Amino acid sequence: MSGMSEVDPEVSSETFGFDYSDADPIAGSPLYDDTLTTLAVEELPVGGRTLLALSDGFFTIDRVPEFLGSPADPHGLHDDLVAQGMTPPRVPVGAFVWPGELNVLVDAGFGPRDGGGGIMVGGELRRNMARKGLGFDDIDIVALSHLHPDHTGWLADFEGNPLFVNARVVMGAQDWHHFMETDEAQLPIDGYVKRALMTLADQGRVDLLEGDVVVAPGITRLDGAGHTPGHSLYLVEDGGERAILFGDAMYCPQQLTEVDWIAGSDVDPRAAQRVRERYLRELDEGGGVGLGCHFPGLKGGRVLSGAWQSV
Ligand SMILES: [Zn+2]
Repeated sequence: MSGMSEVDPEVSSETFGFDYSDADPIAGSPLYDDTLTTLAVEELPVGGRTLLALSDGFFTIDRVPEFLGSPADPHGLHDDLVAQGMTPPRVPVGAFVWPGELNVLVDAGFGPRDGGGGIMVGGELRRNMARKGLGFDDIDIVALSHLHPDHTGWLADFEGNPLFVNARVVMGAQDWHHFMETDEAQLPIDGYVKRALMTLADQGRVDLLEGDVVVAPGITRLDGAGHTPGHSLYLVEDGGERAILFGDAMYCPQQLTEVDWIAGSDVDPRAAQRVRERYLRELDEGGGVGLGCHFPGLKGGRVLSGAWQSV
């Protein structure tokens, strides 16, 4: 692994005018120490390497119709989590690190802020990375599944300065178009994140991807348009083993069997469903672990004859 170190104390208030190393909007929340969400830190061996799954915070699932469900079962995820005894029903805001010759971060959390009323709160990604000996400046590539706010929050400080100072950023080309060049997005990109991405693009540090393409040794971007127009999945492989990072194409493991559950935030629900079916079939036939950004505890699973088994 290259350049692993503790969090660089210089990347803080003196650099950005805001002390991100101390920003802790979750402090005081009962979910601060919650291992299903805020404190979810998992290591997943893939061949001779280790994928890190790291949370940035939590998202409590209100009983909002069709947030994640179907017309027949509009509160699907909420009711299922409650039935499992999870109070409050909640999911993590996940990101992943694939450390190696090039350290790749997949998704960038929600950032150190409260999205309103304590429903979605981020801010722990930096600390959870530090627990694994990684600072933001150790990241060489930030690979985004899509440009929704809970996947891009740490790209910039609130003034629009990029926070991954040594990294290139890669994403699906159609997401750049949808979020950066049109005002069509239902969930628009945050202004400060947009400014940082423009700065990075001006510096030649943004790669817009089409189709299936290798982004670094052992990690490939897979086309997964549906949740957003340029949504990406990422396949990590080593030594004949593999894992597929679903982004938000598969929001929760229940979608393996509840195939008609859609996310209210799916831009094209039918396309998102086809993406799920395609890659779940691939896991069933070819093996490997699947893992989404919002899976409880950030625990992956295998598909065995059409059934989900946590690993
Ligand atoms: Zn998300």
